[in-house]
Amino acid sequence: MKPYYKDLVELPGAPSFEHHVRAYMRRALNEHAQTIVEDKLGSIFGGLNPDAEGPRVMVAGHMDEVGAMVVGITEEGLVKLRPLGGVKGDVFLSQHMSIHTDDLEEIPGVTASKPPHLTRGKKQDKPMSFEDLRLDIGAEDKEHAEKLGVKIGQQVVPRNLYTTTKDGKKHISKAWDDRFGCAMALEILETLKSESLPIQLYAGATVQEEAGLRGAKTATARIEPDVFIAVDCSPCQDSFGGDEISGKLNEGFLMRFYDPNTIMHRGMKHHLEELAEQHGIDYQYYQSKGGTDAARAQLSGDGVVVATIGMPARYIHSTTSMIHENDYHAVRDMLLAFLRSFDSDALARIKANV
Ligand SMILES: [Zn+2]
Repeated sequence: MKPYYKDLVELPGAPSFEHHVRAYMRRALNEHAQTIVEDKLGSIFGGLNPDAEGPRVMVAGHMDEVGAMVVGITEEGLVKLRPLGGVKGDVFLSQHMSIHTDDLEEIPGVTASKPPHLTRGKKQDKPMSFEDLRLDIGAEDKEHAEKLGVKIGQQVVPRNLYTTTKDGKKHISKAWDDRFGCAMALEILETLKSESLPIQLYAGATVQEEAGLRGAKTATARIEPDVFIAVDCSPCQDSFGGDEISGKLNEGFLMRFYDPNTIMHRGMKHHLEELAEQHGIDYQYYQSKGGTDAARAQLSGDGVVVATIGMPARYIHSTTSMIHENDYHAVRDMLLAFLRSFDSDALARIKANV
């Protein structure tokens, strides 16, 4: 995988704190795109062929990752948190987490948990709520914590321990959801910038997806695409049993045909199925209980044809997650096959299939 995949997952970027990621994206987009378009919330996209006659296509990752915000400091110097994005307290116990200050400083710590020595013989605690978590940064008391730089409203994200598994095929990191999509947007532009395409292509990433698909609303209002493709990681259940539509690593990209907010456009589904068969690209049908930026994008203007090309990922919305290289190839190949063959006729065919 290109170096920007690893570079991007290392950056902190809870919802509305995407500035480091955006700065990285801007530098990379400047290298590969002919034009850069931003909305007023902070979403950023690079354009190729902005003056072409053909349809306008957006390919979007999202820059934010699930994390937390500082909402208080106890007299003992422990930091109180509230979640940013959909996270459960249980999976954040005993984790390396860092506060990131506005002065680009990192304040490392660990989320407090009780070892069995302290709970033995006591009634089982109820599941930990995120609001009950305390981040221990080693401060002696509240004043000391403030002196170390802690302030209400700062972002908190996991520290990263990027690892490639022994077989060299899987990559474990925080924030695959969805720096993967950000990096893929860059790779698409880098690959296609020297090719002639009969479409206007805008590839980049939105902000605040994890906080309610907010950047997708403003970015699509700004760009007014005909087609919007979300590139996002979705949770696989294969390590917990699962079934044939709940996602597996190494089975190809996720054809997300249904979630509560988006039913994949029928014409688009046919089109992607045909292309995947034609190019021998692995895919799996996938149903989700969540939503992606595609949900918001489809309601932009008088309606946008949308799809999510999903990247299978285990353990997302925790402090770390796992993806498979073969699925990365499938996502990339599907996007490239789509973008290289798309034109006004293909759009008309898709739209006729409503
Ligand atoms: Zn996501």
